[in-house]
Amino acid sequence: MSLRYTFANQKGGVGKTTTVVNLAAAMATWGFRTLVVDADPQCNASTSLGIDARSSGRHVYAVMVAGLPVRDAIHATRWEGLDLVPSTPDLAGAAVELNAEPPQERVTRLVRALAQTDAYDYVLIDSPPSLGVLTVNALVAAQGVIVPVQCEYLALEGLTQLTHTISLVQRALNQNLALRGVVMTMYDRRTTLANEVVDQVRRHFPKRVFETVIPRSVRLSEAPSYGEPGVVYAPRSQGAVAYLGLARELLTGDGHTVAWEPEAS
Ligand code: ADP
Ligand code: MG
Repeated sequence: MSLRYTFANQKGGVGKTTTVVNLAAAMATWGFRTLVVDADPQCNASTSLGIDARSSGRHVYAVMVAGLPVRDAIHATRWEGLDLVPSTPDLAGAAVELNAEPPQERVTRLVRALAQTDAYDYVLIDSPPSLGVLTVNALVAAQGVIVPVQCEYLALEGLTQLTHTISLVQRALNQNLALRGVVMTMYDRRTTLANEVVDQVRRHFPKRVFETVIPRSVRLSEAPSYGEPGVVYAPRSQGAVAYLGLARELLTGDGHTVAWEPEAS
């Protein structure tokens, strides 16, 4: 059985994609068979893993709209144990096509497709910056939702709407869905604001915020242009070490043992 996590926040630029690709790469490095599903028409997760699927016909749009079996849409990445169902810009049109389907049908496309991915230990689903039909499909398909939140002014804004959507999905479509955790991203320790935001979010989501906070790191933002996750591109950078720590925290919480320790610097 695989554990499926959806990364959601309808704000763009909060670190969803960066979190997905770095956690996935860390998991694969440690021997967990990991599948990333890119459910965002912006395809940033696909690009960050070095894959352009536009001419292949094997992508999440074909799976969700045309009924392509998911195994035919899985691409191997350059990293052992890390596979990808890539996205393409076409996926933007999927929302319109899916909305023409009956309500129950349109939000269960992804979960039904992913029934064939049980060989993976982890399936990590990246979602677009909206609470539309693609994100709902991603929430229906997962056991846990992980919410990246940027350490900035008004960080909590919009989270009420997100938690409302999560509880609607729980009630109507997916009773197994749990809020697995909130990840604080792009933390800048030089500002008092960042600390205040972390404290505020911890008060708002008691026991739900991961201990590991992801710092702002130039290396993490450079990595996608090389088609590599930050933990591969610059494994000793502060950002990469933080993501490895987050991966360990997540895996440990799921009952796995991870031997990795950050090197003393
Ligand atoms: P989302 O998927 O929520 O839109 P991204 O993961 O794409 O957010 O991140 C938005 C931008 O910020 C990207 O350019 C990314 O490279 C950059 N970024 C993400 N996390 C960090 C970080 N910890 N430090 C510096 N830049 C980051
Ligand atoms: Mg993204």
